[in-house]
Amino acid sequence: MIEEIAPRRRLDPAERARIAEEQQKLKLERLSKILKRTKYGSSKHKKNQEACCICVEDFTKDSECRETPCNHLFHAECLMKWVETKVASPDCPFCRAEIVVLNR
Ligand SMILES: [Zn+2]
Ligand SMILES: [Zn+2]
Repeated sequence: MIEEIAPRRRLDPAERARIAEEQQKLKLERLSKILKRTKYGSSKHKKNQEACCICVEDFTKDSECRETPCNHLFHAECLMKWVETKVASPDCPFCRAEIVVLNR
């Protein structure tokens, strides 16, 4: 019996890293659309949230914030850093709900 050897496409590590980086960038772009920009005090967010649970600092009146689909509020900067570190499976830092990113 002749074993068929599947032609394996070999990507060199640099190419692989480039593709991974590209995919991460794309996903972050999608995430930044899902996580709506808002200003503290101007959104309909849950009023019991007075501090960003990532940096544990209180929001100020005009803090630049982002809101998760589960309606939790964080500093825009804190939340983007958070999702960047777990771009493969982002979740809400507050309630741990998965932030679903659709591949389109
Ligand atoms: Zn923060
Ligand atoms: Zn949440």
